[in-house]
Amino acid sequence: MTNETLTNIAKELTELDQKHYLHPLTPPKLQYEQGPPIIVSEGKGVKVTDVNGETYIDGMSMLWNVNLGHGQEELGEAAKEQMTKLAFSSSFNGYSHEPAIRLAEKIKTLTPGDLNVVFFTSGGSEANDSAFKLARYYWKQKGQPNRKKIVSLSRSYHGVAQGATSATGIKEFNSIVSSKAPDFIHAEPHLLECERGDRTNENYDKSVRGIIEQEGAENIAAIILEPIMGAGGLMIPPEGYLQALRDLCDEKDILMITDEIICGFGRTGEQFGVDNWNVVPDMLTFAKGITSGYIPLGGVVMKEKIRNQFIETDDVLFHGFTYSGHPTSCAVALKNLEILERDNVLENVKKMEEIFKAELKKLEKNHPHVTKTRAIGLLGAFELYEDRDNGKPFDPEVGAAFQVVNECFNHNLILRFIDWNGSNIVAIAPPLVVNEEEMKEIFNVVDKALTVFENSLK
Ligand code: PMP
Repeated sequence: MTNETLTNIAKELTELDQKHYLHPLTPPKLQYEQGPPIIVSEGKGVKVTDVNGETYIDGMSMLWNVNLGHGQEELGEAAKEQMTKLAFSSSFNGYSHEPAIRLAEKIKTLTPGDLNVVFFTSGGSEANDSAFKLARYYWKQKGQPNRKKIVSLSRSYHGVAQGATSATGIKEFNSIVSSKAPDFIHAEPHLLECERGDRTNENYDKSVRGIIEQEGAENIAAIILEPIMGAGGLMIPPEGYLQALRDLCDEKDILMITDEIICGFGRTGEQFGVDNWNVVPDMLTFAKGITSGYIPLGGVVMKEKIRNQFIETDDVLFHGFTYSGHPTSCAVALKNLEILERDNVLENVKKMEEIFKAELKKLEKNHPHVTKTRAIGLLGAFELYEDRDNGKPFDPEVGAAFQVVNECFNHNLILRFIDWNGSNIVAIAPPLVVNEEEMKEIFNVVDKALTVFENSLK
């Protein structure tokens, strides 16, 4: 195609997008007036190309999900093979099929402890809503129907379905409508000493332990947390935190749910986020990385004790989605997990993690506003402060993280900024198949973008 034709297509698509396409997590007015900043048309490895032929490094694996990178043909072939054989079949009324059965068993072998039973959904929000319902149902069947409350953490992100939004602790997500579901309570994250029982701590009342005591453990079904908080600001918990919450849940007989929707299937260099701290939750939710984003799929893995409660009676489990255990999604997931293993992708994550951390440290050394660099596996971030030594934040008007991410974009690198609560965090999470040269390419661009940003402040 000639350049002129390409530009004409870009123009046409831009106009149609403006008129007819309402985008998630986007200011509708800006989109309506300006159109999409990029119209992606293809991808290979860590790179994507837009309709104008510009190539970008995908430093975020799009939405922290394209773990095997773009253009993985084997995943496409697995989809085609399954689609042409049996594209869809129900999982209601006990109907089953091989891809879902094999995938449930495969997931069981990857999850820690006796997390051995899988319920499938189409994505992460549905997975979390399902986990909340299943937790409440577990208690109901156990003769404790009052255990309905779900405790989650401020600044957590669990998705946008009704339960998931209500559990989400980023207040903006609950601001578009004011009808939060009942029985969701938020605690402050990462108050390690409080969770270990230190009542003298001034924040005790806001800790998970403090909240459980105020609400009464007999009213609480479960707590949910991301092992590493993603959209809320890429917060890695202090050492011992997950174990402290595990101990707390055991002490109070409360279910522990970990939301592994970002961390699951290798993002942190371990199979699951909790594996970094050898903690076994009672339920674990997953999505994204299970198919590397090639096709929607999510789910809940639960301990056998939860399923065993459901088989105490003849009652029907009145919960399920048309696409629970979608055969094509399951076939792609099986292939994705096979490739992760065959190509030793987790080993690559661990190798790249070292380079990632070293490059982040270099940024901190060379750029006066960069601080709080952190990474675990290929999940990392840095923060920007006007005065990093005194912890003085930038005026929100500056839009510091946005400026840097925008400048990266101008240099063909896709990253993500997080600016809730006046923070200025830049998240980096490349595909798990990234190599050393590509890591350096990413950081060269970030280095340049930071210099441009610093000069703009003068
Ligand atoms: N939990 C976490 C930790 C997530 O990062 C996300 C998506 N970013 C979700 C839940 C929601 O998943 P989905 O968008 O597939 O519904």
